[in-house]
Amino acid sequence: MTKYVYSFKEGNRDMKNLLGGKGANLAEMTGLGLPVPSGFTVTTEACNKYYEENEKISNEIIEQIFEQLTYLEITTGKKFGDINNPLLVSVRSGARASMPGMMDTVLNLGLNDEVAESFAKTTNNKRFAYDSYRRFIQMYADVVKGYPKSSFERLLDKIKEEKGAKYDTDLTEEDMYEVALKFKEVYKGIAGEDFPEEPKKQLIEAITAVFRSWNNERANIYRKMNDIPSSWGTAVNVQEMVYGNRGNNCGTGVAFTRNPSTGENKLYGEYLINAQGEDVVAGIRTPELISTLEEVMPEVFKQFNEIASILENHYKDMQDMEFTIENGKLFMLQTRNGKRTAAAALKIAVDLVNEGKITKEEALLKVEPRQLDQLLHPNFEKESLENAKIIAKGLAASPGAGCGKIYFSAEDISLAKERNEKTILVRLETSPEDIQGMSDANGILTIRGGMTSHAAVVARGMGRCCVSGCGDLKINEELKTLTTKENQVFKEGDYISIDGTTGYVYGEEIKTVEPEITGYFSTFMSWADEVKRLKIRTNADTPKDAKTARKFGAEGIGLCRTEHMFFEEKRIFAFRQMITSETILQREKALQSILPYQKQDFEELFRAMEGYPVVIRYLDPPLHEFLPHTDEEIEELSASLNISFDSLKNRIDSLKEFNPMMGHRGCRLSITYPEIAAMQTRAVIEAAINVNKEGIKVTPEIMIPLVGDVKELIYVKSIVVNEADRIIKEANIEMEYKIGTMIEVPRAAITAEEIAKEAEFFSFGTNDLTQMTYGFSRDDASKFLNDYYDKKIFENDPFAKIDVTGVGELIKMAAQKGRSVRPNMSLGICGEHGGEPSSVEFCNMIGLDYVSCSPYRVPIARLAAAQAQIRSMENK
Ligand code: PEP
Ligand code: MG
Repeated sequence: MTKYVYSFKEGNRDMKNLLGGKGANLAEMTGLGLPVPSGFTVTTEACNKYYEENEKISNEIIEQIFEQLTYLEITTGKKFGDINNPLLVSVRSGARASMPGMMDTVLNLGLNDEVAESFAKTTNNKRFAYDSYRRFIQMYADVVKGYPKSSFERLLDKIKEEKGAKYDTDLTEEDMYEVALKFKEVYKGIAGEDFPEEPKKQLIEAITAVFRSWNNERANIYRKMNDIPSSWGTAVNVQEMVYGNRGNNCGTGVAFTRNPSTGENKLYGEYLINAQGEDVVAGIRTPELISTLEEVMPEVFKQFNEIASILENHYKDMQDMEFTIENGKLFMLQTRNGKRTAAAALKIAVDLVNEGKITKEEALLKVEPRQLDQLLHPNFEKESLENAKIIAKGLAASPGAGCGKIYFSAEDISLAKERNEKTILVRLETSPEDIQGMSDANGILTIRGGMTSHAAVVARGMGRCCVSGCGDLKINEELKTLTTKENQVFKEGDYISIDGTTGYVYGEEIKTVEPEITGYFSTFMSWADEVKRLKIRTNADTPKDAKTARKFGAEGIGLCRTEHMFFEEKRIFAFRQMITSETILQREKALQSILPYQKQDFEELFRAMEGYPVVIRYLDPPLHEFLPHTDEEIEELSASLNISFDSLKNRIDSLKEFNPMMGHRGCRLSITYPEIAAMQTRAVIEAAINVNKEGIKVTPEIMIPLVGDVKELIYVKSIVVNEADRIIKEANIEMEYKIGTMIEVPRAAITAEEIAKEAEFFSFGTNDLTQMTYGFSRDDASKFLNDYYDKKIFENDPFAKIDVTGVGELIKMAAQKGRSVRPNMSLGICGEHGGEPSSVEFCNMIGLDYVSCSPYRVPIARLAAAQAQIRSMENK
């Protein structure tokens, strides 16, 4: 028989998966002999069974709950529903990972008319008894039945007004009695039946409600944002009530062993006298600082301090504790590793090592890699954010906070920048020509496009915040308006704020603050570097990106997307001349004018990387992306080429593709136009020769994209080798270079042995590999993937987090096949997954040499790589 219910005496901290965080820690504190009210935990497995059995708690589980209830009655000497000595309990959720405020809680359960009446007599405190009763009725109505809280709150406000009471605590015992009776009437009015008087029924209903709350909307959103699988389920804790609302020698509070904002090693928290837990959170009265408890209740304060340090030493981490004081006696209701800002997380981790409490490896595991983002980008000021209204939610495409006036074209953004305005670029989706506007804007918002859309990739590269795929908003680019679901209309020049870390869009100006990078950051990151096995490279297309990435610790460039170097006005014009040329001579002439720019860019990249490896990927995007759009542009180009407007227009139309992502791009371009590969080779090799002469050793790595058949690679490689060897020979020097390929087409992964005979290195392009393995268009998948999440078909975006079972298997196979032919070949990944911690862990596990990610994700990848290595050593 499966055991579904555990008393606090039976559990411990290692049983988090089964008992949830709260349950496991209550059990652990019980084991440590700390003052914890007795109780039991209904397991996460019971929650999963509830969902398996069509949202019904089975009789077997109900029997086990009642068995533990009897045991609780014996331990406490009280009885459920008893008039003389009633047992009252709290019912609280508690998942494996803490999800603060996401699920439901019911307090004071077990009260009914009779019990409340006698409770008033036995406690000799009628006010307290009916205060507890009215709270219970309201919570039960809200949590179990889903009735609006406001019906009860309005009534309470009305009674307070009638009685001239400012706070709840100003109400007399008779007033509270009246409130409780009236609450029951309200309940009956809504429910059409009396408030349930049977405590056991109340209990099962409340446990059911907590299980149900695992699937409420906010819990689902929180899980998705924090990578918590819905299969984990929540546990439910049933615990004897202790009361902070019995009078002035009672109270309740929350405290952290260290300051969660700054990490300062000092007790931090607040409490309220004569109150129950939710009052602290609800902000009905302003809580007192924990330090003042020393004067009010010195004994309790001393004991609490002792317990705080016992807990911190025991858990070896900053603790977040909830406590209640009943008639001068302290009870602990919860402890958990406290949530903290990134700055605090680093300080606490480093301090704990310096205090000799934990090892460096333990410290490295305490910081969530994604949290480091907070240190690298501007953030919203906390107070301003709390009062701001969310108008929409899109994909959290590139982290950081941005605020400014909205403009609907890149040009308008650049003009506004000249006027020193802060701006947000709003586009249906961005295209390469928006690049300047994207760089000038404080943030980017797109209505379409996923995590690997142009906007997302470019924004991350630039470290600009971006919310993409925000289908909640409607855009009219002609009228320059943005309309919310509630029909609120924002016009050009109106302020909005976007949070690229959460995907939220706010309809107002919110203040931002610059990140603080403290000394703790570099100490901590140096520990990560000591431990990690994977090298961390960066995806950088400009010398500026490369320098930023070096500052963040990048050990080379894993991907330079050369097409990003063609978008500047002069270059794109020459490039357009090149693709629309009708003769090879015309084409070569156009390429010659691009060559010096490319060469200069490569030289600067090599210099910025100071001898670290640089992988240069040859031109990849479909040609139509470079074509002119407006009649004016077409006119200008046709004049320069000496052809008619109409024939140029025809040529442009002929280049349009039904499915550009599967079209004329990657190595396919060099097969049609070998002169592009030749020109790029010349630029790379001549740049490397020049920089080598300056004393920086450069071994350029040339990467051919989108190869599916080794014959494609053989063809392009022959052009590269011819050109490169010729130039090196002419220069009369010795210089090595490497030619490798991206593995981003499933056929390339399957035939990796063949390809490895020709390629000196592989870099897995997991953006395209995901697109082509699933058959999901990179540009359109976000339109339907939301339905996948809602229907629980997918938990995660496969473009953000590697699909280990499918795409991952292809990578693993290709890596093995590649190494079987070329044992020392360098293997890396350069898709967007390279900066995502669980994907980094996967890359570490399958033995890749490096991951490459956008500059601002380099520190995240460094920490994720260190954590992956520590965990893999632990598993061994
Ligand atoms: C990829 O496909 O993963 C990749 C890195 O190339 P791009 O995103 O430029 O197609
Ligand atoms: Mg690709």
